[in-house]
Amino acid sequence: FERKKILVLGAGYAGLSTVTRLQKILSFQDADITLINKNEYHYEATWLHQVAAGTIHWEEAAYPITSVINTQKVRFVPAEVTAIDRDAQRVETNQGEFEYDILVVALGFESETFGIEGMDEYAETITNPETSVAARQEIERNFAKYKTSNDPRDISILVGGAGFTGVEFLGELTESIPALASQYNINYEDVKITCVEAAPSMLPMFSDELTQYAVDFLESKGIEFKIGTPIVAANEKGFVVKVNDEETQLEASSVIWTAGVRGNSLMEESFEGAKRGRVITKPDLTIEGYDNIFVIGDVAAVMNGEGENARPWPTTAQIAMQMGDHAAKNIKEKLDGEKMHGFSFDDKGTVCSLGPDEGIGVVFGREVKGRRAAFLKRVVDTRAVFKIGGPFLAYSKGKFL
Ligand code: FAD
Ligand code: NAD
Repeated sequence: FERKKILVLGAGYAGLSTVTRLQKILSFQDADITLINKNEYHYEATWLHQVAAGTIHWEEAAYPITSVINTQKVRFVPAEVTAIDRDAQRVETNQGEFEYDILVVALGFESETFGIEGMDEYAETITNPETSVAARQEIERNFAKYKTSNDPRDISILVGGAGFTGVEFLGELTESIPALASQYNINYEDVKITCVEAAPSMLPMFSDELTQYAVDFLESKGIEFKIGTPIVAANEKGFVVKVNDEETQLEASSVIWTAGVRGNSLMEESFEGAKRGRVITKPDLTIEGYDNIFVIGDVAAVMNGEGENARPWPTTAQIAMQMGDHAAKNIKEKLDGEKMHGFSFDDKGTVCSLGPDEGIGVVFGREVKGRRAAFLKRVVDTRAVFKIGGPFLAYSKGKFL
């Protein structure tokens, strides 16, 4: 009797949820489980807007992977995956090759710039701890420069996109930028923060009343919105926008692009049919033609509905964690020779924070705003840590204040 080799790629919300569930429901004899991740730590991607704004240090949003896995049952290998060979059942990494009987692909998201000229070169993004720290440092460097340059562009910040990431980042800036300004003896009134959004309205998943609440709050803190204003290029001066066929240069020294995500680009290289780094999964979370490969989290397109009306669910941490949990249960069923179950998303709602004390959201079908929403957001953030790492991790990493 040979123990089946289970290989999990990525220790984000999806991969860690899979492994922490597997280690509960499988015994050592059942399987040989290996987890591969680029870094030795897991980071809370959902807290990265705080890292980028400087309201938390990146290490507050990270913890060692070995602190949540049972190393008696799971082998953790810090390595970067470079290729997946489905037919040879082999994964290549910068630390060698790994074979598998069952593969779980949970390699997460990247920033999507839609090929916009200059964006990769001139804009910062909020994609992982490194890019988020770089965004924060860019803002700080430019504020410091202003002391000698007196150039208003050095205390101007452009944020591209008013999706969840953009709006949550703006919320954090309302907290961190007044403090940064006072540190450099700069009048906050002189700081210019502008958010540029292509669509005619923002956050369409919320009611007009909730969205207006968010806009009013952020505007009251001095943020300016340019809605219905697509960004068509980025350059050393800032963003170029195009409205009614007319191009305008918006100027700022700090430029942050938060206008889109895609799945890991490794997906296109290893899975035909992957679009924007996402592969359509079957209801049991395996993929067409390979019932031993599970694709979960932001690299998966999980359909909501059937036939022509089917649309993928938005890629979120909430769904990534539920998919990880479900994939683990299906793996156990597979090993036991039982029929695997279809995944269904239990949508508990969405909260969009606007800094530490404000927010908007819909939770269990009810609208919330203000301090209550901000409190619920901290509950959601703490719950995610608790679900993966249990009470001790929640105690050390949770947001209780
Ligand atoms: P990821 O979290 O991206 O994890 C992927 C893991 O794989 C990472 O550890 C990465 O280092 C590793 N990896 C990548 N490439 C390789 C490689 N080649 N080799 C080895 N390892 C690799 N969602 C919500 O539900 N609620 C929120 O409030 C929320 N807030 C957000 C705030 C921000 C600022 C952002 C950017 C996103 C937010 N999201 C939120 C979305 C959420 O973060 C993602 O949907 C979620 O992170 C997806 O989880 P994942 O496990 O699929 O991928
Ligand atoms: P998104 O794709 O949801 O939003 C991007 C925004 O940028 C959109 O409003 C889009 O119209 C705009 N945009 C795109 N191209 C543009 C252009 N050229 N010029 C100007 N604006 C442009 O991306 P996101 O906000 O990073 O969210 C990614 C995923 O993460 C989503 O599934 C989201 O639900 C999830 N998320 C959730 C939360 C939360 O629950 N609180 C927070 C952050 C992210």
